[in-house]
Amino acid sequence: MAKVGPYIVTETLGTGTFGKVKLAKHKETNVEYAIKILDKKDIKEQELTINVRREIAIMKALNHENIVNLREVLSSKHKLYIVMDLVRGGELFEMIEKKGELDEKTARKYFQQLVDGIEYCHRRGVFHRDLKPENLLLDENGILKITDFGVSSVKKREGDMLFTAVGTPYYCAPEILLNSPQGYNGEKVDTWSCGVILYLLLVGDLPFQHDEMNVLYEMIKQCKVIYPSSLSPGAKDMLSKMLVKEADKRYTLVDVKMHPWFRVDYVPVNGSS
Ligand code: ADP
Ligand code: MG
Repeated sequence: MAKVGPYIVTETLGTGTFGKVKLAKHKETNVEYAIKILDKKDIKEQELTINVRREIAIMKALNHENIVNLREVLSSKHKLYIVMDLVRGGELFEMIEKKGELDEKTARKYFQQLVDGIEYCHRRGVFHRDLKPENLLLDENGILKITDFGVSSVKKREGDMLFTAVGTPYYCAPEILLNSPQGYNGEKVDTWSCGVILYLLLVGDLPFQHDEMNVLYEMIKQCKVIYPSSLSPGAKDMLSKMLVKEADKRYTLVDVKMHPWFRVDYVPVNGSS
């Protein structure tokens, strides 16, 4: 059993692209947390001093029902430990793998929680940039909790993120693949990923999928989406406003929240207004 500050660290809860997330218990309070362990060599030097601190300050200040709460960050010679609330219900990804596509009502419920959480962060200048179902957890009440927030921007060379773990950029916006010299808008990149996730929830398959990387890239760059006839007109319209090739014509998440399909049974949560 390893000790990190006041925490006793035990089993691995999940492995991501940049290190592990482990279960930890506070020695005095016995409260359990999840600790994400990052190797400092995976973080850019200047990021570590300026951006990480800035990012951590922002993340600590975030308070939204659908965002995993960051408690504190500890540091040792070679590692960075991000202590956050423990989410016990597993990944949304595992649920889709087991159940396949969701009915429209259930899919919309998760989508509303996703958009609510991310739009809240956008208003505070924080972008996720690495949204995918593996980063969406469910708590014991089935509430969606977004993890891996903000931290993505401190990772070494952003382009690398696209080629790690699964090795495929399924959720990646076209402008990132096109590597435009103007860079890209974090807000619109998150909209794109939310669109891909919504498609997956409703259809049970990814909108862009191919074994050959080159073909997959082309599919995303051309943004050719097939909308199955099983989709309701409202759901299809919602998706078609998000999976738009040109970032400036794509909806923001504020726009998404105004869309009639989104508004059905919508209950804003704390912090979302
Ligand atoms: P990476 O940046 O390396 O992808 P993540 O933050 O996404 O790391 O965490 C990797 C995995 O660890 C997640 O997919 C999830 O299964 C698990 N995990 C992350 N955060 C938590 C948490 N707060 N509670 C429980 N499990 C978590
Ligand atoms: Mg992750």
